[in-house]
Amino acid sequence: MRSNYFIAYIVAAIVMVFTLQTQASAQEVAQKDVVDFQLRWHHQFQFAGYYAAVEQGYYRDEGLEVRLHAGDPAHQPVQEVLSGHAQYGEGNSEVLFQRLQGKPLVALAAIFQHSPSVLLTRKDSGINSVHDLIGKKVMLMNITDDADFLTMFLSEGVSQSQMEILPSSYKLDDLVSGKVQAFNSYLTNEPYFLNQRNIAYNIIDPSNYRIDFYSDILFTTEAERRNNPKRVEALRAATLKGWRYAMDHPNEIIDLLINKYHVEKTRAHLEFEAAEMRKLIFPDLIEIGHMNSGRWQHMADTFVKAGLIQPGYSLDEFIYDPSPKPLPYWILPLLITVIIALAAATLALYYLKLLNQRLAQAQQTLKGSEERLRLALGAASQGWFDLNVQSGEISVSDEYPKMLGCVPDEFHTSLQEWQDCLHPEDLDSVMASFRECLNNGGPTHMEYRMRTKDGEWVWLSSVGKVTEWSAQHQPIRMIGIHTNITDHKLLEIELKRQAHVDYLTGVSNRGRFMELAEQELNRAVRYKNPLSIFMMDIDFFKRVNDAHGHKVGDIALKKLADICMQTLREVDVVGRLGGEEFAILLPETGKDEAIDAAERLRRSIENANVALESGLPLQFTVSIGVSSLSSNEDNIDVLLNRADQGLYQAKNSGRNRVCVG
Ligand code: GH3
Ligand code: MG
Ligand code: MG
Repeated sequence: MRSNYFIAYIVAAIVMVFTLQTQASAQEVAQKDVVDFQLRWHHQFQFAGYYAAVEQGYYRDEGLEVRLHAGDPAHQPVQEVLSGHAQYGEGNSEVLFQRLQGKPLVALAAIFQHSPSVLLTRKDSGINSVHDLIGKKVMLMNITDDADFLTMFLSEGVSQSQMEILPSSYKLDDLVSGKVQAFNSYLTNEPYFLNQRNIAYNIIDPSNYRIDFYSDILFTTEAERRNNPKRVEALRAATLKGWRYAMDHPNEIIDLLINKYHVEKTRAHLEFEAAEMRKLIFPDLIEIGHMNSGRWQHMADTFVKAGLIQPGYSLDEFIYDPSPKPLPYWILPLLITVIIALAAATLALYYLKLLNQRLAQAQQTLKGSEERLRLALGAASQGWFDLNVQSGEISVSDEYPKMLGCVPDEFHTSLQEWQDCLHPEDLDSVMASFRECLNNGGPTHMEYRMRTKDGEWVWLSSVGKVTEWSAQHQPIRMIGIHTNITDHKLLEIELKRQAHVDYLTGVSNRGRFMELAEQELNRAVRYKNPLSIFMMDIDFFKRVNDAHGHKVGDIALKKLADICMQTLREVDVVGRLGGEEFAILLPETGKDEAIDAAERLRRSIENANVALESGLPLQFTVSIGVSSLSSNEDNIDVLLNRADQGLYQAKNSGRNRVCVG
C-alpha cells in the first residue's frame, strides 16, 4: 500500500517534469527556424531522404525551414558547416577523420551502413586489386575525403608514393579514355554510365579489404548541439522520417528530382541509383540512421592502423545519443528535489502511521493497566491524587473522599483545603515533606492525620511524585497515592504504648523509665540543670499480700501509682522497676527540693486509704531513698545506686521515711 503511494508520487513527478519539458520544447520551436543544410554533391537520389522530409513537411512540422544546398568541389559539407555557412551537412568518413583531427563535429545519424565509395578500373586494364595499382594513375577526390582508400592502401602495404595519385577531375571519361587507370566513384552512380556504354569494369571496394565505413553521415557541430539541442533532435527526427518515406516511395522522389530539382540524370539512372542505394542503406533490416559506437571505433582504429591518426583518440561527444531527452538544466535538480521531498514525505507519513499505531497500542495497554490499577487501588482502599502544582487544584479518585467521609461526586478540593484539614501537629512535617518532593521530584512518603467530615481524625499515608516539569524546572504536576492507615496506626500507637507502660499501674515500665531517665540526665548534664531520683519501696508489703491476698496487693500498687501521679509534677517520670519497687525521676530538681517532694509523697501515701471489700480501709507506707546529680560524671546507674543506698538506710532506720543516699 505504502509503496504504491510512493510509486504513484514518482510517476506523477515524472509526468509533471515531462509535461513541463514538452511545453518548453513546444515553445522553443514555435517560431520557425531557418536552417542551412549542405549536401555533398549535386542533387541526386543520394539525398532522397532530405527532399522527402522537405516535401512531406516533416521539417515544417518541427518548426524548421530547411534549405538544402547542393554540393560541388567548392562547397564541401565539413568545410561549410565548420565555417558556419550551414548548420548541418551530410558527409562521408571525412566527418570522423576531421573530428579525430580536433574539429568539433557531431555525427547525428549514419544513413548508409556501408560506403558506396569504390575505385573503378577498366576490365581490360587487368587491374583488379590494390596491388595492381602500383605504378598506376589513380584519381582521388582528395586525401582526407577518401580516407577509406588511403587506409585500404596502407593496410595492404601499398604506399601512396608507389602510385600516381591525381586529384579527381570528376570526369568519368578520364577512366574511359585511359588517362587514369583507377577512378574514385560511387557504386550508386558511375557504374550506370559504364553499363550504358557497355564498358566492362572492375570494382576495387574497400569493404573487400575489411574497411567497412559508414557513409552519408548526417552531422552538425558541437556548438549547435549545445546551443540548440531541441533543433538538433527535431532535425534529426524529421530527416530520418524523410528517409523512411524516400525508401518506401522512391518513384515519388525521382519525380521530384526531375520536376522540381531539374536533375540532369535520366529517370533510368535515378532508378539505378535508388536500387543500388537500397543495398547500402539496408532499410528493411536496419533502422535508418543507426550508429554503433563499436563501428565508429573500428573506423577510427582503421585510421590509426593506417598511420593517419595518432592512437589514444577519443570519440567522446562525437556520437550523438538520441535516447536521453536532453532536459533543461533546472529539471534534474528539480526532479531530484521533488523525489527527495516526496520520499521524505512518504517516510514521514509512514513514520506517523507507525507512531499512531504504537500510540493506539500504548493507549490500549494504558487503558488496560489503568483499569487494573483502579481495581487494585480500590481493593486496597487506596486512592490516587493528581495535583496541579501551579493552580493548587487536586483531582482525586473516588476513594479519597470516601476516606474523609465525603460523597465522591460532591467532593472538590484544593491544596489549601487539604492543608486546612491537616492535623496541626502534622502540618509542619507534612509541609516539609511536600516541599522536599517538589524540590527533588520524589517519590516522597508522608504520614499524617486528616480531619474527616465528622471532625474525627484519620491517618493517611501518601506517596507523591512530580511527573511534569516546566522548562525552568519548576514542578507542574504531582501525582500520588493515598492510603488510609488509621487502623494500622492506632494499633501501632497502642503497641508502642504497651511496650512502654507497666500493665498493672500504668506508669512507665523499667525499660521506658531507664530510657527516659537517660534522656533527662543527658539534658541536665548538657544544660547544667539539677536532677534528682527517688527509689521507693512499700514497707512490709509481703504482709499486705499475706493478709488480704494478692489482688488487694495489686490494688494497693495501683493506688500508689495514682498518688504518685497526683502528688508529683507532670514532668516527673514514675517507673515501676519491679514488684513493689518504684523509681521516680525529677527533672530540674535539686537535692533539697527533692527531699521536700519525697517527704510530701511519703505523707500522701501514709494518709491514703485503699478501700477493701470488707469496707475496712487499708493503709500502707513507703520508704524513699533520694539521690541528686552532683557532678557531670554521674550516670544513671550511679544515681540509682545512691538512691538505693538512701532507701536501704530508710528501711533500716525504721521505714516510712526519706533518706538521702
Ligand atoms: P520491706 O519493708 O523490707 O520491704 O518488707 P517487704 O515485705 O515489703 O519485703 P520485700 O520488699 O522484700 O517484699 C516484696 C513483696 O512484694 C514480695 C511480694 O509478695 C510482693 N509483691 C511483689 N510484686 C507484687 C505484685 O505485683 N503484686 C502483689 N500483690 N504483691 C507483690
Ligand atoms: Mg521490695
Ligand atoms: Mg517492700
